[in-house]
Amino acid sequence: MTGRLHGVVAMDGPSGTGKSTVSRRLARESGAAYLDTGAMYRAVTLAVLRAGVDIDGPPEPIVAIATGATMESVTDPDAPAIRLDGEDVEDEIRGGAVTAAVSAVSAVPEIRTMLVERQRAHIAKALTDGGGIVVEGRDIGSVVVPEAPLKVYLTASEEIRAFRRGSQDRKAGRDADLATVLADVRRRDRLDSTRKTSPLHAAPDALVLDTDELTVDDVLAELLRLVQERGLV
Ligand code: C5P
Repeated sequence: MTGRLHGVVAMDGPSGTGKSTVSRRLARESGAAYLDTGAMYRAVTLAVLRAGVDIDGPPEPIVAIATGATMESVTDPDAPAIRLDGEDVEDEIRGGAVTAAVSAVSAVPEIRTMLVERQRAHIAKALTDGGGIVVEGRDIGSVVVPEAPLKVYLTASEEIRAFRRGSQDRKAGRDADLATVLADVRRRDRLDSTRKTSPLHAAPDALVLDTDELTVDDVLAELLRLVQERGLV
């Protein structure tokens, strides 16, 4: 890779498409910042669970906990991290309890407004002095930065995504039998795609990449080609 990324690359798609891995590597290879917006929704969810608030109940207490929590995202692609009230919660937010609850919390419109505002602040900071940032999530190209000069939407079949998610979980030391992971992938797809506010969908001008037959290196090579082609490095 020659040159440094400037501008925003918006990476969207459901879980298990390799989005995090390729987004982080693209940021690393192009000297850009990296923002994992899913981690922000997960951290808020953790705060809500720790407070003992019912995630399926009325939104007010969920919003109150989220508003009171101090969250900090580290956008260095070599060591991305998220802190909740000063504590590193990177491992805990990937666990089963948060994974099961995050789609319900992220469907609350006030939570989305709050986090989108914070995401835009991170983006604005990264762009000062001509810098670049790779932002991954579900609504980055459609809602957070609709003006992004490159939007990519990664897809893959449910089975492949569940397989990848399961391998990732096992590598991180978490229990992951395929049937349970597949059921969770399906459930989150359904909740994320059918919620009223900012449902998961590809922005009309996003480039859709099916990763079923592609390795991480293949996807990264395609992304590097695209940023060159669009004059973003
Ligand atoms: O990407 P990850 O699987 O960590 O995201 C966890 C959850 O956070 C998603 O299932 C979705 O409910 C929510 N999310 C979202 N909008 C984003 C990123 C994540 O609603 N931009």
